[in-house]
Amino acid sequence: EGRDYSEAVVIGTGYGAAATALRLGAAGVPTLMLEMGQLWDTASSDGTIFPSMLNPDKRSMWFKTRTEAPLATFLWLDVINKDITPYAGVLDRMHFGDMSVFVGRGVGGGSLVNGAMAVTPKRSYFEEILPEVNAAEMYDVYFPRANANLGKNDIDPAWFETCDCYQYARVSRKAAQNAGLTTTFVPSVYDFTYMKQEETNQVPRSALASEVIYGNNHGKRSLDKTYLAAALGTGMVTIKTLHEVREITRQPDGTYLLTVRQTDAEGNVLATKQIGAKYLFLGAGSIGSTSLLVRARETGKLPLLGSEVGQGWGTNGNVMLGRANHIWDPTGSLQSGMPAMGIDAWNDPAYPVFAEIAPLPAGIETWASLYLAITKNPERGYFAYDSATDSVTLHWDLAQGQRSIDAAKNLFDKINAANVTVYRSDLFSDTRTFENRFTYHPLGGLVLGKATDLYGRVNGYPNLYVTDGSLIPGSTGVNPFVTITALAERNIEHIIATDIR
Ligand code: FAD
Repeated sequence: EGRDYSEAVVIGTGYGAAATALRLGAAGVPTLMLEMGQLWDTASSDGTIFPSMLNPDKRSMWFKTRTEAPLATFLWLDVINKDITPYAGVLDRMHFGDMSVFVGRGVGGGSLVNGAMAVTPKRSYFEEILPEVNAAEMYDVYFPRANANLGKNDIDPAWFETCDCYQYARVSRKAAQNAGLTTTFVPSVYDFTYMKQEETNQVPRSALASEVIYGNNHGKRSLDKTYLAAALGTGMVTIKTLHEVREITRQPDGTYLLTVRQTDAEGNVLATKQIGAKYLFLGAGSIGSTSLLVRARETGKLPLLGSEVGQGWGTNGNVMLGRANHIWDPTGSLQSGMPAMGIDAWNDPAYPVFAEIAPLPAGIETWASLYLAITKNPERGYFAYDSATDSVTLHWDLAQGQRSIDAAKNLFDKINAANVTVYRSDLFSDTRTFENRFTYHPLGGLVLGKATDLYGRVNGYPNLYVTDGSLIPGSTGVNPFVTITALAERNIEHIIATDIR
């Protein structure tokens, strides 16, 4: 096989990777992005790029024989998941013992499958989790820069009060207010102007057609439409899809050499390539980037990597739960798949919680209110190499999630008491009411200031950088992509000025 070389290589095309590639391209640095998933820009024979959640097909998930949606059951019935053909679909769920992690696969990473909530963390909490980062600079420069480039927009509050598709959020707001709690609007990178037109059927429906976790055909400003389009527009950035980086080594001249496996969408290996880079940026996400470096250390390929590589992983305290509403409080059969409101109980002294009011877009009345609670949980997992299977696994015990359940229970017990309502126990395959065996928000593994310096330079390896969610120490207190993007903007500005130009 021939050997390719690019001055800069970025692994992955998610938030950290996309912001990094745009700035490298704008600075005139030839940059190659390697993405294991597909480019999602071509409609299938049914006219759609992505399948809806109600009728998933092979495009929905990454090499599975059955879909694995977060809600396993409804009325304990296995009506949600469907058999599918294994394929390079857009949503992956990786299983590690007691924890499974949802991630996006494709050009745009998590932006293809996520709920588009664009939340800037509370400054006091940001200062708590990353005390060595200059918060004034972050809040004056990099958070605004990230939000502007991501296409953040705010819902029209008057429309929110009257539209059908946020009735579910208004019902949950009333329940929270009855318990004396505070709710807040959540900004989005889904285009609210488009959503308004969906409600009145002026445009094809997407958020209002149960499209979220298997992709949105319209309305969403995913990274392929924002940062990555701008990066390609510099003329200096190229993206290779269905290219999975398997191994990283360093050459005697100090450049990096990647072993990359090219496949087709059915998973057949087409080629194994060697690709060289002077500057190498890891943007494969918390699980992807950490796994690459843990394996490189343990197999002797990058032996100088320290013991902090693979430490400090957290779930952002994720817990999902449902409440049963009274018959006179319907949540509506039309629900926007993009959340627009949260319950802000982060100031609770014992149990800080920021709970997203989530849709349950079943297309029928369910009398259920769903939530994704983000809690403050100090427990951390770690990654280890298993030589028997030559793979890296995440270690997280179910017991480590208890603190998150306690926090969610503290908040939602108050809401249930004030409204004389109960939890739903039919949603998570058995009778549990709190589901914390998965996370949407994997964070950490290569923590800033520990595995790397304060700008994401990997300790011991010049010109090797981390740009993604693995830098964040397990928690941001809100949905993480704005934080990931802003931190990547901050780091790459410094690195281009100091290391590259
Ligand atoms: P990612 O976005 O995960 O991107 C990593 C990319 O690298 C992927 O495309 C992957 O395929 C690729 N990759 C991995 N390994 C390799 C390899 N070895 N070789 C080549 N490519 C590789 N966050 C919010 O802020 N708001 C939300 O509303 C929200 N909702 C969510 C809903 C769901 C269903 C999910 C799954 C996540 C949600 N998140 C949300 C979380 C958010 O999407 C992630 O925090 C974010 O995408 C992480 O960004 P990243 O840059 O770390 O990496």
